[in-house]
Parts: sequence; structure tokens; C-alpha cells
Amino acid sequence: MPVGPDPFASRRAATRRVCGRCRKPKTFLYGTDTECRDCRMRTKPEAFRSGEETRCPSCGHVEKVDSDRATLYAEGEHDTYCEACDYDYTVSTQVAFTYTSPEML
Ligand SMILES: [Zn+2]
Ligand SMILES: [Zn+2]
Repeated sequence: MPVGPDPFASRRAATRRVCGRCRKPKTFLYGTDTECRDCRMRTKPEAFRSGEETRCPSCGHVEKVDSDRATLYAEGEHDTYCEACDYDYTVSTQVAFTYTSPEML
């Protein structure tokens, strides 16, 4: 199998750096960031609101809500845990539906 140049190699190298705060190799979305996302989230004391992610209140780890945690999709309070530090915490889900019906004939 021919091995061509990896089109994402330079991008990966540019975004994978050691965090200036926690000293762990992390993926950075922006070249100007000096702290990883977990570190930045940890420094925000207020509740974390997002349409697709939850944040561990203990270590600041941000985790996407996907089918592995499908119970979080439902309205109400749900127990979940942090994949990074095993901390158990409760997430409150508010679901908003918008029903759009067609124009009048
Ligand atoms: Zn960090
Ligand atoms: Zn955690």
C-alpha cells in the first residue's frame, strides 16, 4: 500500500501541544491558546451550560453528550460521571422543542 504525505500531519502537529497550566499534551483548537480547554473550564466557577457537552465540577473535564450517555438527552436531572477523574455529578437537562407547521394554503 503506497504511503503518501499525510494531509493532516502539519495540522495535528500545530494543534497538539503541552498545556501551559497542567503540563499535559493536549489538543488545541487555536494557536493563540496557552491553556488547554480543561484548564480554562476549570477556572470558570459558574455553572457550565452547553447544548452538547457537560463539565465535571471536580476537574473541569468537558465531555460530549453522545449515545453512550443517552439518558442525558431526556428532560430532568441525571447522574453521570467524569471519564477523566471518576467524579459523580448531576446534570440538569432542559429540552426545548419547536414545532413548525407549513404555511396556510
Ligand atoms: Zn491544561
Ligand atoms: Zn473530572
